[in-house]
Parts: sequence; structure tokens; C-alpha cells
Amino acid sequence: MKYSEIFYTLQGEGRLVGVPSVFFRTSTCNLRCLWCDTAYTSWTPENKDITVSDAFNAIIKFGVKHVVITGGEPFIQKEELTILCEKLSAKGHHITIETNATIFAPVSANLISMSPKLSNSTPTSLKDKQWQKVHNRERLKLDVIRLFLDKYDCQAKFVISDIQDIQEVLELSKQLPIPKEMIVLMPQGTQINDIEERQKWLVEVCKETGYRYSPRLHINIWGDKRGT
Ligand code: SF4
Repeated sequence: MKYSEIFYTLQGEGRLVGVPSVFFRTSTCNLRCLWCDTAYTSWTPENKDITVSDAFNAIIKFGVKHVVITGGEPFIQKEELTILCEKLSAKGHHITIETNATIFAPVSANLISMSPKLSNSTPTSLKDKQWQKVHNRERLKLDVIRLFLDKYDCQAKFVISDIQDIQEVLELSKQLPIPKEMIVLMPQGTQINDIEERQKWLVEVCKETGYRYSPRLHINIWGDKRGT
């Protein structure tokens, strides 16, 4: 498999925030978000190699129940992902897969943490023109989101940069069979100050809409550091 890192930390985002978890970060992504906080898996992917068997052994070595498979986009490597999840599941692990929800495969997982991308994610630089097109074409796949919602326990975590983004979430929620309790709004940013600025108004939006608020706990604790 192409991967970038394996580490033990606390889940920093979404419904399971604070839960000690082993993260397996796959490499390569089909999108190119403007604000991607793991450019080493997307814009400039490291693509280290590991066999499924070695990844499994490295993960279980920590002796931790909760495993988070993230990226990059894990579903790009769907065959390997399927085998890895089967092996982890057989060992009794709780598996969360963090995905941009543009590719589906029937894997064994306890929670699908979708992060469908809003228009705020589109790259803006002229030198990224080619990626702008691809990104905008690929970033939202409602049929894939519906499949995940139909078959798995899910959350839909939206990265919010601006108050205008909320309208996009409201529009999307009308097109999808998604209860508001499953929708999570998370402030965009890798610096505590930026997150705190957005947090001020985003918590009020959550109180109004009934959507869940997600902090970025790992940034609060460790800052913008790899392996956390
Ligand atoms: S989908 Fe995730 S990994 Fe891919 S470019 Fe966007 S933020 Fe980065």
C-alpha cells in the first residue's frame, strides 16, 4: 500500500474526539484541496510502500482498540483497504475510515467519517488550473455519499472557512437523507488563532441548526505537527 505514517494519538475531530486511537495514514488523493493540511499525501505525496500484512502488524503492535484509517484518500486503494479492514475487524478493532466520500467500496468498518468538500476547497492559484477542473468535477459525489449513508454508521464532517459555506451545507442536506445529528461542522485552519476566530461564530451556527461542532483537538494540544 502507499502510505505516509502510522502513529498513536487522540482522535482530534468528529464524534470520537478524545478517543485514544492508532492512525494509519494512506498516501495519494484524487482531490487537491486548497487548504489541505496533509499535502504530503495529496499535492506532494510521499507514497511510501508497505504490505497489507506489515501495515496490520504495525497497527496492532500498539494494542489499542480504536483504529483510524485516513489519508490522502484511503478508498483509492480499495482492494488493499478491504483486506486490511477484514483483518483488523477479525481482531475486534473499532475501525473509523476518514474519506472524502468520492469513492465507494464495501469494507468492514464501524464508522465512515465522510468529509465531502465544499467549494471553499477548490485550489485558486493559476498554476493549479488543471487541478481546479479535476477537483471541481470530483469533489462531490452524492451517489457515493448516499451509498455510505445507506450501509454504514456515518458522520458528515464539513470543513468551514466562511459563514457563506453554511448555505452550501444546508443545500446539500436537502439533497441527502442525512439526519442533522450526523452533520459535523469543523473550523478550517492549522493555527489555533484561525480556528478560534472561526469557532466564535461556528458554535452559534451549530446552536441554531442542531449540527454538531467539532474542534481540532490535536491542533490545540500539539499544534500543526505530523504524527499527532
Ligand atoms: S481530500 Fe483530504 S487529503 Fe485530499 S486534498 Fe482534500 S484535505 Fe487533502
